[in-house]
Amino acid sequence: MLNQLIKEGSIMNKLLGLSGVVLVVILILTKNTCSRGESKKMMSNIKNISDIIELYPSTPQVLEKRVVAAIADAQKRIDAIIAIPDTERTFANTAQALDTLESRSNLSVVAPIAEFVTMVDPEESMRNAGQKALIEIVKFATDKINNNPVLFKAFKAYVEGNAKNEELSDEQQYYLQEQMKGFRRSGLHLPKEQLEEVKQIKNELMRLGLEFEKNIAIDARTITVARDELEGLSDDFIDSLKTAEDGKYILGLDYPTYFMVTDHCDVAATRKKLYQVFQNRGYPVNKEILEKIISLRDKLAKMLGFESFADLDIGSEMAKDPSTVRKFLDDLLEKVNVKESKEFALFTKDLPKSVALSPEGKFYPWDVRYIFERYKKKHFAIDETKIAEYFPMEKTVDGLLSIYQQFLGLTFKQVPISGLWHEDVSLIEVHDKLSDKLIGYLLFDLYPRPNKYSHACQGGIVSAIKSNSGEVNPALAIIVANFPKSTANKPSLLKRDEVETFFHEFGHAMHSLLGRTNLGSFSGTSVKTDFVEVPSQMFEEWMRDKDILKKISSHYKTGESLPDELLDKIIAAKKLSKGWWTQRQIFLARLALDYFEGSQKDLDTIMRSLHDQICLHQLFDSDDHRYASFGHLVGYGAKYYSYLWSLVYAIDLFSEIKKHGLLNQDIGKRYVDTILGKGGSKDPQELMIEFLGREPNQENFLKEMGFTD
Ligand SMILES: [Zn+2]
Repeated sequence: MLNQLIKEGSIMNKLLGLSGVVLVVILILTKNTCSRGESKKMMSNIKNISDIIELYPSTPQVLEKRVVAAIADAQKRIDAIIAIPDTERTFANTAQALDTLESRSNLSVVAPIAEFVTMVDPEESMRNAGQKALIEIVKFATDKINNNPVLFKAFKAYVEGNAKNEELSDEQQYYLQEQMKGFRRSGLHLPKEQLEEVKQIKNELMRLGLEFEKNIAIDARTITVARDELEGLSDDFIDSLKTAEDGKYILGLDYPTYFMVTDHCDVAATRKKLYQVFQNRGYPVNKEILEKIISLRDKLAKMLGFESFADLDIGSEMAKDPSTVRKFLDDLLEKVNVKESKEFALFTKDLPKSVALSPEGKFYPWDVRYIFERYKKKHFAIDETKIAEYFPMEKTVDGLLSIYQQFLGLTFKQVPISGLWHEDVSLIEVHDKLSDKLIGYLLFDLYPRPNKYSHACQGGIVSAIKSNSGEVNPALAIIVANFPKSTANKPSLLKRDEVETFFHEFGHAMHSLLGRTNLGSFSGTSVKTDFVEVPSQMFEEWMRDKDILKKISSHYKTGESLPDELLDKIIAAKKLSKGWWTQRQIFLARLALDYFEGSQKDLDTIMRSLHDQICLHQLFDSDDHRYASFGHLVGYGAKYYSYLWSLVYAIDLFSEIKKHGLLNQDIGKRYVDTILGKGGSKDPQELMIEFLGREPNQENFLKEMGFTD
């Protein structure tokens, strides 16, 4: 979920770094001069199942040819925009034409398909071809679209000229503003030599970023321990470990091993040893790289006219500036501290045997997860495998689909499909319940297999578009997951977090299909980074609601719903350490902000003082250099706050909906009309206000997390 964000949203937009996509294409296709023959070639015009099958390339050669053709077509579109005399520029021939290029052209469809090929195709030759295609497309888009000063000049000439005399809709005006901002953030307004320098800095930053991530990935440090140092862990787990020559067990830094040991190993010294190695992944080599990234990003921001990189990075987000984010985090921290202090008092009363407090009276960091786990086991006795028995896959998916259909006023029709990359791929058609009109298609690829992307994600392939007259162009999205497959003897039982993940990804898919804007650049999930998770996190909250959990759970043997007693425990256990968790999120968000405001940084001092200031009851280990493995600093820059930010807004939305009933179709319709349906065509803050009838705030989040009564 959170760490899969990068794989979510409109892949084309993420890929090309575009500012958001829209749906004006229909207008173009119907109004402009292109012949029917030409319009038929648009891959984004999907009318039926065979159109979908055709979208997927059958061989590497087919993909290669399509990329060549899509790039040639895109180049033609760019040339056409540039060739128009400034006096003859209109929204249609300049802005909308750019929008079509970015969101509806064959390039915009081939790009996400190429990415999915690399993620899901069973054939290595296909995956390699996908990789190659992606590199070519990104290079083309970077040079010829995003960083093309001539294209910018043409666009600017329209915005500063004829646009002033044309009657434009709010969405069109917003598009002009956002595009101009995007171009400026790329430095296209700068003189040639400076623009050249900006490009060089960006290339260098890209290189350093890859280096940083690679150093984390290849850090293969391990520790070795004797069997008695693994007390508390199951024999199954211990026997699955590799052993060293001296017969000792090798513990690696992969997440499953790390969490297994820090959560369950009874031996404090083992937890400590592994923790200390884990918090030094990428260190020391990444320290120097991070320092370079910070100072180069600062330089870049200043060249582009921003005060700091945090300003540049957050300036285009819902939050708008770093000071708003700081205030958001500070306000939250005050309330969170109260709850976290209560948690600390509760846990210290009941410490497990192998745990002692530090001389300062704090938890040692390697004990924290263990303490929580032990407490949960002792007081809640929640057995996740028993709970999974209530979530057999087929029934759970049916339940989930029926909830979405009811709330959003949709009808899902399962349609057989074959001829795609694997026989496991299935398809549903999504219709409007009232009118039965086709809204779009959703592909599922839900089961694991060798060489497949191993997490869950959702991606839009064909953008949802609605013309001014209300005509809808069907959209296409896909959900990839890795759920266990049923066998003849064993039903596929989903763990709670798998059910939540599915609900979450499905939320993204609904955003993709229902976000029908006029301009394709704003379609679906093409929204601000700090808003893109809001609709999905909102739906994820449903999985913490007693009635909904009861409704979709069904024991695979008896068909019974989850018993009340178990449900209450699940819900109570969820809140148990939320204060600690939120404090830690605030610490990481502040760390990212502090690192990216200003140029010269003492990474260790900043981290240490922030930790002492925020994480009240957890000792800072002086050997901790976790910034060296904090990959988000590269990918997310100053925006780590987005996770907490979007959760706060998601819960605000959820609470409003819950007041009316989670299955109430009227509120569902309002949600589609004011939030999902608007895609990125409006400032998300305005969408929130429209839906809530007030400014969004933290109150519901604080209540839901147990921070206030
Ligand atoms: Zn997500």
